[in-house]
Amino acid sequence: MKKKVFIKTFGCQMNEYDSNRIYDSIKNIGFNKTDNPINADCYILNTCHIRDKAKEKVYHEIGRVKKLFRNKKKPITVIAGCVAQAENQEMLKREPYIDIVVGPQSYHKINDLLKNHTFSKKNEETEFDSVSKFNFFDKIKNTNSKVSAYLTIQEGCDKFCHFCVVPYTRGPEYSRPFDQIIYEAEKIVKNGAKEIILLGQNVNAYSHIKNKKEYRISNIINKLNQFTELERIRYTTSHPKDMTDDLIECYSTSKKLMPFVHLPIQSGSDKMLSLMNRKHKVEDYLKVYKKLIKINPEIKFSSDFIIGYPGETEIEFQETLNLLKEIKFINSFSFIFSPRPGTKAANLETIDENITKERLKIIQEKLFNNQKELNKSMENKIIEVLVENNIESQKRLFGRNKFLTSVIFEGNKSHIGNLANVRIYKSNQNTLFGKLEKNMKAA
Ligand code: SAM
Ligand code: SF4
Repeated sequence: MKKKVFIKTFGCQMNEYDSNRIYDSIKNIGFNKTDNPINADCYILNTCHIRDKAKEKVYHEIGRVKKLFRNKKKPITVIAGCVAQAENQEMLKREPYIDIVVGPQSYHKINDLLKNHTFSKKNEETEFDSVSKFNFFDKIKNTNSKVSAYLTIQEGCDKFCHFCVVPYTRGPEYSRPFDQIIYEAEKIVKNGAKEIILLGQNVNAYSHIKNKKEYRISNIINKLNQFTELERIRYTTSHPKDMTDDLIECYSTSKKLMPFVHLPIQSGSDKMLSLMNRKHKVEDYLKVYKKLIKINPEIKFSSDFIIGYPGETEIEFQETLNLLKEIKFINSFSFIFSPRPGTKAANLETIDENITKERLKIIQEKLFNNQKELNKSMENKIIEVLVENNIESQKRLFGRNKFLTSVIFEGNKSHIGNLANVRIYKSNQNTLFGKLEKNMKAA
């Protein structure tokens, strides 16, 4: 009988992509996916280390697994992802319930780890070996059948922002070979994907050399643009420094590239950017912004902001608010600085928690207002939506507009995978609500 595996995924889209690839891989050694954790013979936690009490969350989660299985045979318990990478052997020592610890660049070893597993022996694999990983996965069919599919093209980071744990958990920057990416994209599109979201911790730093020619993310976008079955292309997350002219040019040459740019800035103050080791100034960011809206005035921007980074006073916070007056960011994220073990900023003196919380409230109110305003402006308009799935309980459909905003509307399943024209009649901060329009041209 086939064994069952359950994966609980925390964190970013890259972890989601990884979890699906882990499913694809271990299917070949007899593990079938289950959506019900209690049925699992193997329970994998794919963890995130970017903020908060990541490590403690994992141990807490293990406590829940233990409880769930107290009257059943213990599942093979695997910790994958960035906490596994950061904590490695420590986890096996601290929590005997854990059987296997595997870091993000060692997933090509997961089949062997599970095949050779015995409950009497613990295993840990946390080497950085992206080349072997992607060569291994290249031979494994990507079974993604979602309308909007993730595709990792780049991993790791060499930039070492002082607050960020990524260079330590995902390792050095690595770009997958161009042909490997296009091959996987073809398979995903054959499975039914209508949108591809290219992923990387620094996705626009993508650089692969073949026969002395450098391939950049712009080459991938231009190639995908020729896929007739594909409707939309997106990418995330990008760094302002790698926003090169060839990529900016894609916003005029590639009709399928959505006019929505997620470009984290973290702070609107040069002093803070320098303290964070961001390697760019506010002015550089504004230059990129101006080039982009010049090439396509329709583009909307979103960003990430870190609030209360050590050294931030009212002056620097105000500078961030000033930037919000210049760029009307939508769909953005703002986080309170979270000291990460092992990073340069880990031991810096933190700012009073109440002040930071107050600043977060102020910035979020502004960002949320932008979102509400934009959504309100869509009311009574017909917009184009890529229909991703149905909401069973409500007999409604779910999709996204070109700016990545969620749209919920009435309709039947036959529309899934199509671009639909939807008339918006209501909106809130996060969602547009509408009705299908027949034979109408969308805005
Ligand atoms: N590579 C992207 C860039 O350079 O902007 C960001 C990728 S990072 C995985 C995603 C976001 O998490 C960052 O943009 C930052 O806002 C946030 N982040 C990372 N480390 C953080 C920390 N220690 N505290 C708070 N937020 C953090
Ligand atoms: Fe982290 Fe992005 Fe900075 Fe790299 S560039 S260290 S991923 S925030």
